[in-house]
Amino acid sequence: MIKAKKKFGQNFLKDESVLEKIIQSMPNDDLKVVEIGPGLGDLTRKLLISGKRVSAFEIDMELCRILKKSFSKELEEGRLTLDCSDILSVWEGNESLLDTKYHLIANLPYYIATNIILRALRDPNCTNLMVMVQKEVAYKFAANSGDKAFSSLAVLTKSVAMAEVLFEVSRESFSPPPKVTSAVLKIDKFRDFVSKESSTALFEREEEYRSFEAFLKTAFKAPRKTLLKNLSQSFDKERILSSFEKLNLPQNIRAHQLQVEDYHLLFQDIK
Ligand code: SAM
Repeated sequence: MIKAKKKFGQNFLKDESVLEKIIQSMPNDDLKVVEIGPGLGDLTRKLLISGKRVSAFEIDMELCRILKKSFSKELEEGRLTLDCSDILSVWEGNESLLDTKYHLIANLPYYIATNIILRALRDPNCTNLMVMVQKEVAYKFAANSGDKAFSSLAVLTKSVAMAEVLFEVSRESFSPPPKVTSAVLKIDKFRDFVSKESSTALFEREEEYRSFEAFLKTAFKAPRKTLLKNLSQSFDKERILSSFEKLNLPQNIRAHQLQVEDYHLLFQDIK
């Protein structure tokens, strides 16, 4: 029996009914599936049985050895590829994980879940994500304008995608059980963040994305303060006030009360 490694965020999903529910929620097409952190391969096996072609990335060399043995036939047939690497370093060296469009599926290691989701949103070949994360994180990504949980993460996500929490998963479904309840988050992208070719992309240059991200961090810095106060830390107050007037935003509005489109307009106006 393999001992789960905390440093890699290992909580193996053992509940058959949850595994089935994830498979049932997958888009019904023949795009490749990228699985991050296949672990012991329970979800991988189900994906392959349902006819998907899978590219898996696993950081833990011990698990990689086990996976290579138990999936030797699928690896040989090319229905499965296994890259024994840290997913974030693969992304660091490449714009995209694959050179074809793909769906991302993962029971994510919670210590880097947010980074992985944000990076996948910027990967032009990733069309859709279905990921298990800590429940609070799932609701943060899927929050709507006006919700208390509406944050820079939700604004970024909803700038390019639709996001919804599909279902919650109790601690007992995992071995070892994590400290928190989990949830499956589904994100469907409808455009790219950055592209020179695509007319629907939000930005043309990577630097614009970076400064939008920084702008949102400033906007949501102190949720109890007004948006005006937060933005005044980094931008000229008169300029912000004139943008507020143009966009019909009251001076006492708070960051979570704006619509996603308001953030796009405000950013274009005061950046
Ligand atoms: N998919 C399996 C399951 O559902 O039982 C395992 C999920 S476990 C929560 C997270 C998996 O991600 C582990 O197999 C872990 O070793 C792997 N992992 C952690 N950090 C990683 C990284 N940076 N790159 C690739 N895999 C990683």
